[in-house]
Amino acid sequence: MILTLNCGSSSLKYQLFDGCAERVLAKGLVSRIGETRGRIEHRAGAFAETRDLAIPDHAAAVTLLLEMLGHAASGFDLAAIDGVGHRVVHGGDAFCESVTIDEGVIAEIEAWVPFAPLHNPANLIGIREAMAVFPNATHTAVFDTAFHQTMPPEAYVYPLPWELYARNGIRRFGFHGTSCRWVAGEAATLLGRPLDELKLIVCHLGNGCTIDAIEYGRSIDPSLGFGTVSGVMMGTRSGDFDPVLILHLARSLGMDLDAIDRLIHKQSGLVGIAGVGNDMRDVIEGMEAGNPRCRLAFAMFCRMVRKYVGAYAAVMDGVDAVVFTAGIGENCARVRAEICRGLSHLGLALDERANEEPSAAARSIGRAGAAVAALVVPTDEERMIALDTSALMRAGQEGLAA
Ligand code: AMP
Repeated sequence: MILTLNCGSSSLKYQLFDGCAERVLAKGLVSRIGETRGRIEHRAGAFAETRDLAIPDHAAAVTLLLEMLGHAASGFDLAAIDGVGHRVVHGGDAFCESVTIDEGVIAEIEAWVPFAPLHNPANLIGIREAMAVFPNATHTAVFDTAFHQTMPPEAYVYPLPWELYARNGIRRFGFHGTSCRWVAGEAATLLGRPLDELKLIVCHLGNGCTIDAIEYGRSIDPSLGFGTVSGVMMGTRSGDFDPVLILHLARSLGMDLDAIDRLIHKQSGLVGIAGVGNDMRDVIEGMEAGNPRCRLAFAMFCRMVRKYVGAYAAVMDGVDAVVFTAGIGENCARVRAEICRGLSHLGLALDERANEEPSAAARSIGRAGAAVAALVVPTDEERMIALDTSALMRAGQEGLAA
């Protein structure tokens, strides 16, 4: 069996797959790690359990999830877990694909901590804990940044003094790569065409958002960059804005760096504009009730996404499909319709009825015969992690046999 672990700063998501990464056997979420009132929500087939208890650290979270998996009602033999796939947020330009973890890989992930100070340390704790519990399993690192390593320099170098890139490694990295890679592959399957012949624009619209231009299977321009704020506005993050504003906030309004950090990461985007929270459902509810700030937040969000789609169509000299994924992209017909409304000049024509139809399946929402397809593809980062882990385990075994 393969276990996937996605360690955040105060949460841990896990899924247990069969060895081929086809079937999900169990899944769960440990939240509020480090607080006195933590929680684990666990499901395995018909068995479901939620427990509220203090979870002091990630080590306790791993112990707890193993207890749940080994619980008589779930009934999994933990000794049969021979692969553990770890989501790692930042691999910088050191990793262009998933790798089997050894000491060198751990050191490299550590080296990227200054670039992802909230995420990589949590990912490393998960790796160390799981390696202690499963010393004989193959542990793999699947990086959010790896898929975007195919960006050309004209996309990843910032128009800042060259030395900042050359000496300090400051450049665009992009994130949500695991999601974009999965979604691009599924979109190609849905279209019945090879991925390496397609120009795709993936709109990963969740609490965090990435718009990505994927040309012939290679990510060439993800909208997140050095950090996770650029691109389109998100649940709590601003998206693109003039960086001179940061100088103004500091000099004229006396804000310090921590306050600006909170402002751009936690207090902007939907939450900042609509004022009713970071959830698109609440924004739409507010809009329907006549709240002008909600209407504005909705309009801004869709306009920013549409702008990126237009820009990426220009970058790739065309597009075969616009693909929606993640919480908003998969579930919100209204947002998709508003984005697509301005894309008819590209040859995209929405099938309104298909767009409105609720479904959890990968599907087309465009009109038959339109020059540019419109698709909805559910993302599945965990499956991508499990598939990579399964492939690395096979490659390891073949290596040993050879
Ligand atoms: P994710 O980060 O992919 O889990 O997406 C989470 C976000 O998706 C939530 O914060 C909501 O804004 C959004 N979302 C989920 N379901 C819906 C829905 N039915 N309609 C609109 N937005 C939704």
